[in-house]
Amino acid sequence: MNPLKFVRPNILALEPYSTARDEFKGGDISVWIDANESPYPSGVNRYPDPHHRKLKHEIAKLKGVDENQIFIGGAGSDEAIDLSFRIFCRPGVDNAVSISPSYGVYKVSAAINDVELREVSLRDDYTLPTEALLAAADENSKLLWLCSPNNPTANAFSIEDMEYLADNFNGIVVVDEAYTDFSSLPSMLTVLQRHPNLIVLQTFSKAWGMASLRIGMAFAAPEIAELYGRVKYPYNINGPTQEELLRRIESTDISAQVQEIISERKHLSKELSKNPIVRKIFHSDANFILVKFDDPDTIYDYLISNGVIVRNRNRVKGCEGTLRITVGTPEENAKVISLLNALTPHQ
Ligand SMILES: *Cc1c(COP(=O)(O)O)cnc(C)c1O
Repeated sequence: MNPLKFVRPNILALEPYSTARDEFKGGDISVWIDANESPYPSGVNRYPDPHHRKLKHEIAKLKGVDENQIFIGGAGSDEAIDLSFRIFCRPGVDNAVSISPSYGVYKVSAAINDVELREVSLRDDYTLPTEALLAAADENSKLLWLCSPNNPTANAFSIEDMEYLADNFNGIVVVDEAYTDFSSLPSMLTVLQRHPNLIVLQTFSKAWGMASLRIGMAFAAPEIAELYGRVKYPYNINGPTQEELLRRIESTDISAQVQEIISERKHLSKELSKNPIVRKIFHSDANFILVKFDDPDTIYDYLISNGVIVRNRNRVKGCEGTLRITVGTPEENAKVISLLNALTPHQ
């Protein structure tokens, strides 16, 4: 399958903007007067590398992919989500298919790009409705959005189901893996080579603890990754952020924190499951748990009045009755447990 057949014709034909830094091919330069920059050193007076070469080199090592399979966004995964619509979907003509409930940005980004989003409900146990997803597609369906582990349901989908969709969907399958570091299932990066129509999104915002830097990634076959590089804003990651991220990737080992979050997730789930006001705790492969209560709105307000904010998902279709609780530090989790235990009706 040639994935380029799903690309908008104007994007395929696009001659990307060529920056001053693109046109200079190397040499021994001491006077930089090609980019209308200020000559006065301020630490940020020069334009940054538009191709993020050093970052791609580090991320390739980290993720076990080639440098030409990587796109890096400077507005988080949200940038990769928006660019995906812009690369593949003709406004007002093409559509995309998505699971529901899932991450709200897919819907907003589709609407901004004037692309119909066909939402297909997950099964009652939150597994993938593979046949219904395929049935929702027509010849103008260019993207299929999956999120695994899924926000807000917290579960990861089976690799087999996602590969089945990649094999059978006549378009591009995007798997958003923002929470993959917390999952018991492997990343779809492990099967990327087998699927030319697969795009995997990851981020430094969650397990890596760098939400404020706004760095997201897309991984795909080189001919697809290259399209993101063409369509992005030329200098989409500023210089200080590139340097800071590089420094942190080289010096950070997240494994201990990830392990603590996973063990705290288990502890939080176990303790809350003993509480009679808790109806259900859904299986989690992420750094949050989805918890069902009889009266979630009251509990939401009660937690706020005690200085604790969770995400109320009671009005999200498919998540009625639930609050989404991010796993915090052991002390923060203990506070949530004891606040909710204090609500337990006395026998
Ligand atoms: C948090 C989250 C992201 C991360 O977004 P960034 O823009 O990279 O911070 C992406 N996808 C999902 C499903 C998320 O929950």
